[in-house]
Amino acid sequence: MSFYSLIQNFHPSKSKKAAPIDRWIFIPFDQISFYNQLIFPYLSKSEKSNLDLDDKVSTLFTQQQDSNSRAKERESICFLFVETSAKPNRRPYHKQKLVLLLSAMRHFAKQLGEMGFQILYKYSELDYAASLLEIKKEFAINEIHCLDIQEPEVAHPFSDCKWMKFHTNNLYLCNRDEFREIFPQGSKYLHETFYRKMRIKFQLLLEDSKQTKSNKNISYKPLGGKWNLDHENRSNWKKTDPIPLAQAWVKLDEISQEVAELISRRYPKSFGSLENFQWPVDRKEALHWLGHFARNLLIHFGKYEDAMSIEEPYLFHSLLSPLIHLGLLHPYEVVQFCVKEYELRYNTSEEIPLASLEGFIRQIIGWREYMRLIFLENEMNYKKANSLKHKNPLPGLYWGKNSGLKCLDSTVELVIKRGYSHHITRLMVLSNFANLMLVDPHELNEWFWIAYIDAFEWVVTPNVVGMGTYADGGICATKPYISSANYIKKMGPEYCKSCKYKATGLLEEDACPFNALYWDFIGRNLELYKKQGRVDFAVSRWNSFDKDKKQQISLKANQIRSEFQ
Ligand SMILES: Cc1cc2nc3c(=O)[nH]c(=O)nc-3n(C[C@H](O)[C@H](O)[C@H](O)COP(=O)(O)OP(=O)(O)OC[C@H]3O[C@@H](n4cnc5c(N)ncnc54)[C@H](O)[C@@H]3O)c2cc1C
Ligand code: SF4
Repeated sequence: MSFYSLIQNFHPSKSKKAAPIDRWIFIPFDQISFYNQLIFPYLSKSEKSNLDLDDKVSTLFTQQQDSNSRAKERESICFLFVETSAKPNRRPYHKQKLVLLLSAMRHFAKQLGEMGFQILYKYSELDYAASLLEIKKEFAINEIHCLDIQEPEVAHPFSDCKWMKFHTNNLYLCNRDEFREIFPQGSKYLHETFYRKMRIKFQLLLEDSKQTKSNKNISYKPLGGKWNLDHENRSNWKKTDPIPLAQAWVKLDEISQEVAELISRRYPKSFGSLENFQWPVDRKEALHWLGHFARNLLIHFGKYEDAMSIEEPYLFHSLLSPLIHLGLLHPYEVVQFCVKEYELRYNTSEEIPLASLEGFIRQIIGWREYMRLIFLENEMNYKKANSLKHKNPLPGLYWGKNSGLKCLDSTVELVIKRGYSHHITRLMVLSNFANLMLVDPHELNEWFWIAYIDAFEWVVTPNVVGMGTYADGGICATKPYISSANYIKKMGPEYCKSCKYKATGLLEEDACPFNALYWDFIGRNLELYKKQGRVDFAVSRWNSFDKDKKQQISLKANQIRSEFQ
């Protein structure tokens, strides 16, 4: 049976005899969570335990309530889902991303229907706001409820809809008011400040936190004596710590299969390959991935966080970002799960190093929330930000044209295959190269937004226009993240070993293009480094070059920029 026929079983009836609907709730693609506070109160205790919903997470946002009695109200509640072609028509998103979004939404709608809720699931060619307006008219609805929408592109068309009632989005760990308290207007954003506040808010990895709770002037101490153990997380991958299990990829079920056929039929020109779609599409599978990560990979997450490998492109990374963004996993439960695993193995031969746990928690409660709030607070600045005034078009290699630059070609190949590559390849290979090529940061942002399975406006834009390219003038990062081949060779030696270029050369014909581009970038941005008052090693090295060498570097960099356009 096709999904649309199946979901009709839960469709609200317009008949006068049918029970009236008291509450209409819109569930966008990134709120498909049973922790969604518009859904959670209506779940029974046994459903919560079947879904493995963690009590600790629910205490973050619900008051004590008699779930069993509210569970009976569900016939009078209708969840609205909209599949709109307006989104894929806007950008040729990776095919796997489209399949993930639609399949996860369909699984979630079906699950809610089977629990006894009414489900109105619509396909539309209009945007979400216009589609809901049509439904509102058809069913004479007064008010539609929804959690705050994160993607501005989706949220803005709702700005004049008085009939939409938005509620605090409890799928994130920090809100804008809290963020403004940490960083009052005019103060400088600092991730470390934010991160420590979040550690304290959630009482995570603190010494004696129980004892100090009653004290008003609390001086919190981090577990192990240091808040941030990043300096321990800098190893490259020498295959000495084997990756214990193959990635637990999942198979397409009937619903995903139907969606995959639809996407390849309707959007054949969209980016990427669909052949290898193996992402979790429901809560059960998502929990399975979380378990796999915590039990098998977390142990070396920290140590190899910055390493790069062709053979093992995921190394010890979690691959959880798309699952958290959609709502299949709550960020707090992810953290809790890892803390439990750490405690369970503490003082055993399989102990998880504190640096690994701390490093991972910092990503989830720190960087993820921090980037989102920086973006939401500065959304308008990010739309046009281009502090370095880069205007070049994005080279064809990002769309799959072979370039001979091994680190770039193999990362792009992986992105085409999976819609994914880990943080350091995004930062130090893809955005580093584009920045050195003086590529327009917004063109690069569009590419990341299209190509990555976890790219949504609130997270991709601050990462690309901020952290990756410094186009925001230093809101996210204190200086541009650029490097020569040196860094790539150190953290991803496999790339350089199998590349036709020599990582150590500079002006020779077969010298790695990163090198001349890097020095040229330094030479172009002396004013920026001077303004920052930095005594930068690279700047003093550039200053030590004679005029002739500087000219040759600049000439070579320009040649490379033309060659790879
Ligand atoms: C140029 C560039 C573009 C990026 N684009 C995206 C994007 O579109 N979507 C996205 O989710 N992340 C993006 N990131 C951040 C980061 O690379 C990914 O979150 C991470 O690689 C996801 O893979 P993982 O789940 O295996 O992460 P892990 O390495 O296992 O890390 C754990 C989690 O930490 C969170 N996290 C870590 N760093 C960040 C960060 N800087 N911003 C937000 N969350 C973070 C993610 O939720 C991630 O799942 C980008 C980074 C850069 C430098
Ligand atoms: S030599 Fe240069 S282009 Fe080749 S893999 Fe190394 S860093 Fe990349």
